[in-house]
Amino acid sequence: MSKHDKLATQIVSTGRDKKYTQGIINPPVYRASTVVFDSMDDMRHAIKHKTNGELFYGRRGTHTHFAFQQAIAELEGGCGTALYPSGAAAISGALLSFLGQGDHLLMVDNVYEPTRDLCDKLLAGYGVETTYYDPLIGADIKELIRPNTKVIFLESPGSITMEIQDVPGICEVAKAHNIITMLDNTWASPINCRPFEMGIDISIQAATKYIVGHSDVMIGTATANEEHWPRLREHSYLMGLTTSPDDVYLANRGLRTLGVRLKQHEQNALKVANWLAAREEVDHLRHPAFDTCPGHEFFERDFSGGNGLFSFVLKQGNLKAVTAFVENMQHFKMGFSWGGYESLILGYFGLDKIRTVTNWDTSKPLIRLHIGLEDVDDLIADLEAAFERYNLVVNSCK
Ligand SMILES: *Cc1c(COP(=O)(O)O)cnc(C)c1O
Repeated sequence: MSKHDKLATQIVSTGRDKKYTQGIINPPVYRASTVVFDSMDDMRHAIKHKTNGELFYGRRGTHTHFAFQQAIAELEGGCGTALYPSGAAAISGALLSFLGQGDHLLMVDNVYEPTRDLCDKLLAGYGVETTYYDPLIGADIKELIRPNTKVIFLESPGSITMEIQDVPGICEVAKAHNIITMLDNTWASPINCRPFEMGIDISIQAATKYIVGHSDVMIGTATANEEHWPRLREHSYLMGLTTSPDDVYLANRGLRTLGVRLKQHEQNALKVANWLAAREEVDHLRHPAFDTCPGHEFFERDFSGGNGLFSFVLKQGNLKAVTAFVENMQHFKMGFSWGGYESLILGYFGLDKIRTVTNWDTSKPLIRLHIGLEDVDDLIADLEAAFERYNLVVNSCK
């Protein structure tokens, strides 16, 4: 069996323990608050095993949750997975589990914007100081470490500008200084890189994206290694974070087709990206598989595949030109998030406002695409028409 076959098999079979499924293919939706016990002995047993897959009380989850938690933990390669009501909640949950007053956090500069806002608007008020670092810093991150540095947070590829990090290089430095590493692993999903083999302590997924895969559920996961799992699990319980079993059911169902969906997204996106690379209006591609994407060599080294999300930079264009590009598309819809079956488009100016240690040339607009499962020729025709609208505006400004 090839490496890929093994993974495909794993995606199908993981988390389908009969204890959780009762023999039904998908673990049923168990809704629960109270769980009742027949005897004091049963209750004592439940208390003793409340953190390892026995029913105890609804807030600790039901078999619907346990099955999905086991699946994500196994696919990510960690010890245990906590569930959260969104990807953003998984990020805040993981950070707040380990950071306290007086601690210092190293945060990657191209992080998902709400994560940056969490640091600046909320963690700062709790007495946690954040220093942003260049996504390409690698092992030089050691220069930024202080005696009170508690967590290094990574996101690779980072949001919008897509730089890929030297994750093992950073983890090695973190280990030597006893610093916890957390990775927003949403782009890779649980199947396209091995965060724990690279030395990460906690891997986070906005499962809202490719795991759910159909743009209809908000859910997040944080998976920890053995050392950090008890604290992460207990913090999420103490914060009272629960997820609806219906949402977990849909995430678990989406997970089963993740492998084939990602392959199709990746293939479609590569075709569109190659077509874009040949357009004279395009300055360069920010697609991890292209060598014009900063950190491309780490993608080659650490990832086993890609997906449908990438960006490209235009040589020029004002707001009017970019508006002409992104409006009136036939197939690409304008909207946040990604990872569903549909194609999406967003135009960005002013990226300098969400970057504090890396430079961004604001004269060149960036367009982010999520390539869905439509026929690629239809998507390319849509983009071709977009370039025509854009060129009309650009040429009229000359
Ligand atoms: C979307 C996203 C999140 C947040 O997930 P939600 O479920 O929307 O809260 C976090 N990180 C990355 C990289 C994302 O793209």
